[in-house]
Amino acid sequence: MKGLYIHIPFCARKCDYCDFVSFVGSDNHFGSYVDALIREMEKYSGTEIDTVFIGGGTPSVLPPHLISKICDAINDNFVLTDDVEWTMEINPGTVTAEKINAMLMGGVNRVSVGVQSFNDDELRAVGRIHNSREAISTVIELSSAGFLNISIDLIASLPYQTDESFKKTLATAVSLPTTHISVYSLIIEDGTPIKEKYDSGEYTMPDDDTDRDLYSFTAEFLAQYGFERYEISNYAKPFCKSRHNLKYWDCDEYIGIGVASHSYIDGVRSYNTSDLSDYLNGVTRVGEDALDKTDKMGEFMMLGLRKTQGVDKNEFKSRFGCFPDEIWGDTLEKFITAGFMTETDRFYALTAKGLDVSNSIMCEFL
Ligand code: SF4
Repeated sequence: MKGLYIHIPFCARKCDYCDFVSFVGSDNHFGSYVDALIREMEKYSGTEIDTVFIGGGTPSVLPPHLISKICDAINDNFVLTDDVEWTMEINPGTVTAEKINAMLMGGVNRVSVGVQSFNDDELRAVGRIHNSREAISTVIELSSAGFLNISIDLIASLPYQTDESFKKTLATAVSLPTTHISVYSLIIEDGTPIKEKYDSGEYTMPDDDTDRDLYSFTAEFLAQYGFERYEISNYAKPFCKSRHNLKYWDCDEYIGIGVASHSYIDGVRSYNTSDLSDYLNGVTRVGEDALDKTDKMGEFMMLGLRKTQGVDKNEFKSRFGCFPDEIWGDTLEKFITAGFMTETDRFYALTAKGLDVSNSIMCEFL
């Protein structure tokens, strides 16, 4: 069963750290963009789908009638399973009761809210359009409207963030009706306004040890409130893991629709144009990579190790005809002996010590 990703590349304002493909002040293109999305969806008409993710950008900048139009097109073009997980990303400051109603009526049953922090100084420092009060009221409004599955995104290592303020943000997150929390560290990308501030010394980044401590603290704190860490940066209440994102980590197939979206079908990873005008004029796919068996095995290990459960040996064997230790026996033994990985009858997984240095471990399987 495939997943479906729909990209909405519009935002109310560009955040200072953002290097995603998103456009500001393009409201005049909203209608034609949705028409282009529908044309692209029609190419996959009849495909069975069990997860949908409308992401961005900020999908909730769209007006209610366009949210409904996208949802109707998804329902019309794809065969959705009865238990489909259907997520839409929203950002505080862009949500209205009419939009929430359009989402619910269209079939959205999970929301991912871009909170980032519940501290106003931190939000201001990175150019977010909302404040903490709006973030809290957005989550409460979504819950009151009937959403039972609410995820929030948080960022660690923001400017001005202290241990104290980060703990307060986590405490607020668990006090709200949330079922899933993602915590990613701020990444300073070249060409972003925030990079200049770091380069000029206006902000400083925490060192690696502090970053690691923050991650350990987060896992311990959220566990006390029933959130299980199931991926390096993701925590969920029971039965609330993101089934859509698990498709990426499980190397399962997905269809990407919209500007800058990616697809993975029949072992081929393909890419859509990042140029909005080209997309509006009918250009979709502009490149693809056919993965060979070695690539696929490496990706399966690398992405599988992101999950705390680890890599399923039997699944590896059924996909590739051999067990991981037949390919990486020495590497696996080295990491297990050093305490970075564990092996059970069924899985290879990173230990807490391994999760701290996951990037360097994963690289060895590529
Ligand atoms: S809301 Fe998200 S996609 Fe939009 S500018 Fe901010 S970080 Fe980028």
